[in-house]
Amino acid sequence: MYKKIALAGPDITQKEIDYVIDAVKNGWYETYDMHIKKLEKTFADYVGAKYAIATYCGTHALHLAAIALGLKPGDEVIVTDQSYIATAQAVSYVGAECVFVDIDPDTLCIDPACIEAAVTEKTKAIMLVHFASMAADMDAVMEIARKHGLRVIEDACQMVGGKYKGRFAGTIGDIGAYSFQGSKIAVGGEGGMFVTNDKALYERALHYGTFCRNDKISFLWSDDVGYNYRIANVTAALILAQVERIDELIAKKKKIYDWYHEFLQDCPYMKLLHMEEAWESNYCYVVGYLSEECSISRDALLESLLAKNIHARPGYPSMSAMPNYQRRFPVPCSERYWKQGVVFPTALNLTKEDIEYVCTEVKLLIGE
Ligand SMILES: *Cc1c(COP(=O)(O)O)cnc(C)c1O
Repeated sequence: MYKKIALAGPDITQKEIDYVIDAVKNGWYETYDMHIKKLEKTFADYVGAKYAIATYCGTHALHLAAIALGLKPGDEVIVTDQSYIATAQAVSYVGAECVFVDIDPDTLCIDPACIEAAVTEKTKAIMLVHFASMAADMDAVMEIARKHGLRVIEDACQMVGGKYKGRFAGTIGDIGAYSFQGSKIAVGGEGGMFVTNDKALYERALHYGTFCRNDKISFLWSDDVGYNYRIANVTAALILAQVERIDELIAKKKKIYDWYHEFLQDCPYMKLLHMEEAWESNYCYVVGYLSEECSISRDALLESLLAKNIHARPGYPSMSAMPNYQRRFPVPCSERYWKQGVVFPTALNLTKEDIEYVCTEVKLLIGE
């Protein structure tokens, strides 16, 4: 049996080990949050944002975004239909309603034309995702937001290091959220980051992410129901090392991305999605559509690949189809990606031979 071809996984070097050991040895007493502070500053400087808050995970950063914007029951938030469920759940945590809209089939990101049609007088914000390393059409989204007075949250959990037209994804709307969970490009096991240029939003998120403590009134005084969303210093040390190596990680991902495109470019039944080269992706994910004309179904393809120890994945289910949510608008492009989408393994330990093996097996199964 060929070795396990993992869907995702990190690249760990001596630097990460050194930083973690340093945090374990020295990250206590007066330096208990030394690595957290350094990570927040490094990340904010890197993406060119004024404020950053490291959180336990990306979902917490999204939740703090919803809180900071004051979203509440009775409000509507326009949410892209394709994402990991955390995107929608962060909106639900504050009691606001998710109004799901369809995606652009070529980028898998929210379709701006669908946003416009979904705006009502209850609409307060747009929750978009830079999906599978492809940037959402921020110019169009920001124009609609300005026109209707809406706030914009960028779920950039999959997009650490990726850009849209020269600016880092996650820094263009009101708030950006990033993840360092184990399947992302830079990992900490768990980890997240809240980013904004707005001081008031930053202060509100910081307040709610630390139990709503108000030490100005009295030590350990709390003035509202808050959360303990802080990251651990040891985890921050690991993420710091990864963030300092981000250009190297992106270069490795780009190689994997290029190999897939090289080996599968002439395959008539698999259409890989192309990154917008000029916008500079982080190239973290390789995704495609299996043609509906193919003799094998998408699920059968994935099952056969798994039997070869190749851990590919289907497209995400349409969130508006899930039992806790409702569908107000048709989402045919999201459903097509759900049914025909394939996420290819892009773990950072994969070699060119591994990717060739995957592509050879894919072509054997679907035909060339
Ligand atoms: C991973 C991910 C999240 C959640 O991040 P966690 O760090 O796992 O909480 C949210 N949105 C998207 C698009 C993601 O890919």
